[in-house]
Order: sequence, then C-alpha cells, then structure tokens
Amino acid sequence: MKKVYLDNASTTAIRPEVIEEMTKVMAEDYGNPSSTHSFGRNAKSVLELSRKAIAKELNVPAQEIIFTSCGTEADNWILRSAVKDLKVTRIITSKIEHHAVLHTVMLLEKEFAIQVDYVAVKPDGSIDITNLVELLANPAKTLVSLMHVNNEVGTVLDLARVGQICKEHNVLFHSDTVQSIGKQVLDLQEIPIDFIAASAHKFHGPKGVGFAFVRKNSGLQPMFFGGEQEKGLRAGTEAVHQIAGMAKALTLSYAKLDQEKKYIQGLKTYLLEQLTASLPGFIVNGDANGFYNILNVLLPFAADKTAMILFHLDMKGIAVSRGSACQSGSIRPSHVLAEMLSLEDLKKPSLRISFSHYNTKEDIDLLIDALKGLQ
Ligand code: PLP
Repeated sequence: MKKVYLDNASTTAIRPEVIEEMTKVMAEDYGNPSSTHSFGRNAKSVLELSRKAIAKELNVPAQEIIFTSCGTEADNWILRSAVKDLKVTRIITSKIEHHAVLHTVMLLEKEFAIQVDYVAVKPDGSIDITNLVELLANPAKTLVSLMHVNNEVGTVLDLARVGQICKEHNVLFHSDTVQSIGKQVLDLQEIPIDFIAASAHKFHGPKGVGFAFVRKNSGLQPMFFGGEQEKGLRAGTEAVHQIAGMAKALTLSYAKLDQEKKYIQGLKTYLLEQLTASLPGFIVNGDANGFYNILNVLLPFAADKTAMILFHLDMKGIAVSRGSACQSGSIRPSHVLAEMLSLEDLKKPSLRISFSHYNTKEDIDLLIDALKGLQ
C-alpha cells in the first residue's frame, strides 16, 4: 500500500541533506559550546555559523536570533516576559491563534490580571484590521500577538501592515510565524516587528528545536535559569546538532523556495479541481486563496461520518488532519473552525490537507478515491 503524507502543517519530513549535516555534527562536533577547549570551540563555531545563516535569511543581525527547544517555547517565553518584565498590561490576540499562544495568554490573564482583547475574525478567517485599530485606541501598555499563517486554515496576516499599525500606536508586536518561516521570504528589516517564533520541524528540519527573533534592546528576560547560554536569555546546553540541522533546513528551503512554492501551489490547484469534479458541494474553510500549502475543506458528508473519517483514511495509508495535530485524535471541534462555521457545519467533517514538495498528484488522486469511497 502506498503511504500518502498530506499533513505537512503538522510536521514535515527531514531533508536528506539535513540528516547528513546533523549526523556529521553529532559525530564530529560533540563538544559543549560553552567549553573553552578546542572541542568546545568547534561546537561554538557550528552554533554561531548556524545563527548567522538563519539571521541572513531574515535579514537581521545574528545576535537577534535566540535558539529554543521549539516554537511553543519561543511563544511562551516572549509572551510571559513581555508581561512579567516589560510590564505589558494588555495583550491583543485572536481566538484563532495556535494554543501555544492562546493558552499562554489565558494563563497570563489569570496569573497577572492583565487585560486580554480578542480582535474580531472575519468569516474567511482573516483578522479584522479595522477592529484591531479600534482596540488600539485604548492607551494601555500593549503587546499585539497575531500569527502570520494560520496552521489550520492557512489564512495569511499582512505582517507589514499590522507591524506599521503597531508602530504608529507605539505598541509591541509579536507574531507566531511557525507556519510561514522557510515558506515565504520575511525581511525583518522591512517589517516593523519586535518578536517572532519559529520551529525547525515545519520546514523539513529536526523536531525539538526552534528559535525566537528578539529585536535588540527589547528588555526580554529569561524564562529558564542556570546557565549563561544564549547571552543568558535561554539557559541550557544548546542542541548543537539540532541547531545545525535547522540552519541547513532553512537555507535549503529558501534556496529552493521559488521552485518548490510553484510546485506546491500546482498541487493545491489540482486538489481543488479534483474536489470540484468528484465531491461537488465541498466548501473551503477560510480563504480559498490562503497560504499555498494548506487547504481546509468542509466535506459534503453527513455529520455521522465525522468521528471515523480520519480513521478510514488512515486505514488506507493516508495522513491528513482535522485541525491542529494536538486535536487530531479527539473529536472535539477545532477552536479555529468554531470561529468561522455554524454549529451545524462544525459537526460535519472538515479536513486539513497540507502539502510539501515531496507530494505528488498521485497522492491527491489516492485521497480523492478514498473520499469518494466514504460518501
Ligand atoms: N505555532 C503554530 C502556528 C504551529 O502550527 C505550531 C505547531 O503545530 C506551533 C506553534 C508549535 O510549534 P512546536 O511544535 O515547535 O512547539
């Protein structure tokens, strides 16, 4: 049975060149980067070259990249320190953020009694910018946290525009860019933004490593204590091989971006054509012109198919998702779709199909055949 992986917003296959790089670093550069002997210096050099490579892709100074264990850690750190150390008293976010942001903000609301305002989400899953501007009329010390590309429906925020609005209102701006880093060029000199979070496993790098971009002199303080790594901002021995793999993955993703983006876009168009031909009546959740590697569709099936659909597809070797990965095993409706769909539609099966350059049209044909069999 051919296995079909169409869940690339959840995680991606590691590029062979990345595995090669990581294996080399594990075998040869095993020193502790904080040690002063030659083994340590070698590891330190791998670390700093990786930081430089990542910074170059984002057009920022290397010291503004801080390595973390994942995207979730970067989001948690930035949000928590903004409240605790930068004395932010209000966070403006949205109800369609990833739980790494949403749950952290809710906890901070309880812990520090900060004000939390949720900006309105339009039916197509985009952020209502007019409402954001209205909310910003309140002069409280504010951090705006809005994701770049939504991981469930692929809607895209205009980062430059929101960054400009935040700058004009003199508030801090954080964006969870986990789904867009490595898949879209981001020039952080051009975009007025204070913080971003990224995760290597979303761009064909290893799991368990990510980074935060933190603008110089931000005043952010560490979340962990016990070491001087990352200029004291993130204590703990750096995962040198993971970081080297992340840098390699990012460099390759941007080097091949034009070609791979065009290819993936073609797959998404093909899927839409095949759905139209074979399952008329399907509806795109979010924006049909959303991010090029994600398509979320409401299938024209009865609600009683919802609980079993992923299981049936899995039996045929096809991996897709109902929403974010952490919910895929449960039949709890997605908090993102809950903001866009009627209660009745929410009960019906929706699927998130997400691509990488490793997918083919045959993968889509197999998915469509399997779905036709479930009608
Ligand atoms: N933010 C978004 C938008 C994501 O899609 C994910 C992963 O699902 C995360 C954060 C969490 O990243 P990580 O798995 O590196 O903790």
